[in-house]
Amino acid sequence: MSMSFIDLGAQQTRLRAGLDRAMARVLDHGQYIMGPEVAALEAALCKASGAAHAITCANGTDALGMVLMAWDIGPGDAVFVPAFTFVATAEVVAWVGATPVFVDVETDSFTMDPESLRRAVTHSVTLGLKPRVVMPVDLYGLPADYVAIEEVANEHGLKILADAAQSYGAARGGKKVGTFGDATGLSFFPSKPLGCYGDGGAILTSDAELAATLKSIRVHGQGTHKYDNVRIGLNARIDTLQAAILLEKLTIFDEEVAGRNKVAHRYSDRLGNTVATPQVPADATSVWAQYTVRVQDRPHVQALCKDAGVPTMVYYPIPLSQQTGYRHYPTVPGGVPVSERLAGEVLSLPMHPYLSDTDLDRVCETLAKACTV
Ligand SMILES: *Cc1c(COP(=O)(O)O)cnc(C)c1O
Repeated sequence: MSMSFIDLGAQQTRLRAGLDRAMARVLDHGQYIMGPEVAALEAALCKASGAAHAITCANGTDALGMVLMAWDIGPGDAVFVPAFTFVATAEVVAWVGATPVFVDVETDSFTMDPESLRRAVTHSVTLGLKPRVVMPVDLYGLPADYVAIEEVANEHGLKILADAAQSYGAARGGKKVGTFGDATGLSFFPSKPLGCYGDGGAILTSDAELAATLKSIRVHGQGTHKYDNVRIGLNARIDTLQAAILLEKLTIFDEEVAGRNKVAHRYSDRLGNTVATPQVPADATSVWAQYTVRVQDRPHVQALCKDAGVPTMVYYPIPLSQQTGYRHYPTVPGGVPVSERLAGEVLSLPMHPYLSDTDLDRVCETLAKACTV
């Protein structure tokens, strides 16, 4: 009786008939690129998030990179990213020739520390860089502290590009993901809370001019017609089939987010005395892309979980400031001690809306055993 870390099979069983019909419709009309499902998905994302514009694209990494391209971010520009995130956040900065500057995160929320950001901005100027963009990451599904980050951004004229690859559907301070900052990048990688059956992504923004530029970048920098190329672009469209799949998944998405929250609350009730459980600020909701605890002797705990058939994962074991491909980039003065500590302590537990009470009990009992010395 094996337990899944993320159970995409249960979701597929639930949606299979609708998915089959949706995919058959695409095969019937044959518009595999930019078919009607793409526009329908963009409209659905706007309606659900409250964003004025949604531009779908090939994946979450492209979503972030395209915005930096649209803003003409390049050599000499500093872009502030948390050291504790998936590599794509910093990767796109390096793509455009700009300098990622690593900022520390907060222990309880795992998201960017606004005071560390402030120090990093000052430092970037002393390095001769021009502070241009901050990319807060909504790690594990919880929106970053955008109110505090916006304050720093406004002081220094920074644009805010939210990396919401893990947090579509969450909210903070009465605002939904997709309406924070100047633009928001989403990922529909299969294991994200809203995932397709391949790669997919989107950008949400209220800026009409940015939206128009992004639509051009998405198709080779297209101008007024197919063979008019007004800028350097990409081939970064989402497949019509993936858009069709996402439209089906959206029909149960709110219910699934509620299911994830139920699992998270049960975990927190049961595990509060055993391990450091994730904290959600009073004004925020999370979509629980991961339920991530902190433990002291992680190799020991992970081994015992493995023996008990409880799958666990570590997101992420190495801060970006220590990655071989990235450690030559600047880090905030004083370093990123919280990111370094978290990289050694975090442990993500099985999390999906279909996790049974029996499995949840087994996870909690195993952790309780593993953590008592
Ligand atoms: C998944 C992820 C991305 C990249 O998304 P892809 O669709 O895999 O390209 C970027 N940032 C974060 C924080 C992610 O979790």
